[in-house]
Amino acid sequence: MKTVAERARAFEAELKDAGLRVTQQRRLILKVLAEASDHPDAKAIFHRSFEHDPTLSLSTVYRTMKLLEERGAIERHAFDDGVSRYEHADQQHHDHLIDIETGQVIEFSSEEIERLQAKIAAELGYDIVRHRLELYGRRKG
Ligand SMILES: [Zn+2]
Repeated sequence: MKTVAERARAFEAELKDAGLRVTQQRRLILKVLAEASDHPDAKAIFHRSFEHDPTLSLSTVYRTMKLLEERGAIERHAFDDGVSRYEHADQQHHDHLIDIETGQVIEFSSEEIERLQAKIAAELGYDIVRHRLELYGRRKG
């Protein structure tokens, strides 16, 4: 697993490879993004960055994140509310459980589920290339 600084540098390299100039503002966005571990949406990244640079615009955040997504550096999720949320693409595969009351996103992984999915796909004559599994739940009262 990469450190925050390593992630921020890797994001920077992606922007440079894409021919983008890494401005102070973009560097700030990349740092905030590298620090995030809660599947934030673009607005959350904007608010966290805005605290450090009030001249920042939301569209700069959107553009930066779109580019990183296109380059495979971050992964986009559209959970039930339809809002795009992002996480680092360099993590171990995992699935998500979304708390429908708080919106909290909980990560989990299960060897058993992975095996079962591979088995089902094989029975249907397929190799799995990728999958997404989202559970929506309410905390037991
Ligand atoms: Zn995740």
